[in-house]
Amino acid sequence: MSRSASAVLDRAAAGERISAEEALELYRSAPLHALGAAADTVRRRRYAGVEHIATYIIERNINYTNVCVTACKFCAFYAPPKSDRTWERDLTDILRRCAETVELGGTQIMFQGGHHPEYGVEYYEGMFKAIKDAYPSLVIHSLGASEVQHMAKVSGVSPEEAIQRIKAAGLDSFAGAGAELLPARARTAIAPLKESGERWLEIMEIAHNLGVESTCTMLMGTGETNAERIEHLRMVRDVQDRTGGFRAFIPYTYQPENNKLQGQTQATSLEYLRMIAIARLFFDNVAHIQGSWLTTGKEIGQLSLHYGADDLGSVMLEENVVSSAGAKHRSNLLEMIHLIRASGRVPAQRSTTYEHLRVLEDPADDPVDERVVSHLSSTAVEGGGIGAIAPQRLLKVTPVG
Ligand code: SF4
Repeated sequence: MSRSASAVLDRAAAGERISAEEALELYRSAPLHALGAAADTVRRRRYAGVEHIATYIIERNINYTNVCVTACKFCAFYAPPKSDRTWERDLTDILRRCAETVELGGTQIMFQGGHHPEYGVEYYEGMFKAIKDAYPSLVIHSLGASEVQHMAKVSGVSPEEAIQRIKAAGLDSFAGAGAELLPARARTAIAPLKESGERWLEIMEIAHNLGVESTCTMLMGTGETNAERIEHLRMVRDVQDRTGGFRAFIPYTYQPENNKLQGQTQATSLEYLRMIAIARLFFDNVAHIQGSWLTTGKEIGQLSLHYGADDLGSVMLEENVVSSAGAKHRSNLLEMIHLIRASGRVPAQRSTTYEHLRVLEDPADDPVDERVVSHLSSTAVEGGGIGAIAPQRLLKVTPVG
């Protein structure tokens, strides 16, 4: 590492803000372990007193339709409107999935679906209201700027009006998917029909100003340059300086199957870990960095907890989007807890807003419900939903301590 990069790393570890140029230099040249150690120092300082804890959430990702007019090249989930592969879930089915989520201790639902040409604001209003009427305790952490842009266009209203109406109907926060890559070249290359990165951020800023907070994702590995990755971070940090509305940053890796990009490029595990660490060092204004075991695997998920991440995401009771593109990793509640313990941390179930709901200080208190399992690609399963697939076998890990 050059002397200048070493000095930047020291400053970042001490909590000083670093520039995008400095972040790029570190991302390119700092030794992996030094980068991770600096990020872990920042994490420990930020969470002093609870630095021994790593969090997870129990949620369900409900996919309401795969019909989409946007045809992103990295996506294996969507079907064009006239395709014979299209499906839509009715409200009864969605409510059944919500009921199962509540029964299994889930606290959050995340709706993900395509940009259906007929789904305007009214569709989401109806769905969110019905869910909140039936299950008021479920947090609706769903959608994002892309869906807002699309539903506002379908309904002929402004994004502001769309956000206000779905918030009034029950939306609690935006999940912030759809960020993909924000810089123009990288975004156009993989999602030419999606709104621009600037527009995505503009709509998120509107949402934050209307009291709807969000998380923010980044898709790695579709052929973007290192400079574009760091530019993505800079664009998010600039908005965050104004709004403070991004609760967490969640990078994840492109999955190569069944999509137009055909896996010609992919991010490696080391690139991913470097991004987790750089994100922790760069985002002095974003509270949480989430490790993504779903796309990178459990072992890399564990490592991310030593590279700046304070959260390991979710036991996802259902997921169909990245699993359609080849993500094979599954987990269950017991395994998630073991993964965190084996990383040398104490697991804590969290809420959508990152409050600790249940801190599992003593392994003897660990929950034992083996039904709380990640079911991937449940649309392929007859009947779908919980109970359609047998609980996964536990990974053999040795708890620490
Ligand atoms: S990523 Fe979303 S918007 Fe893009 S094609 Fe897939 S479902 Fe449609």
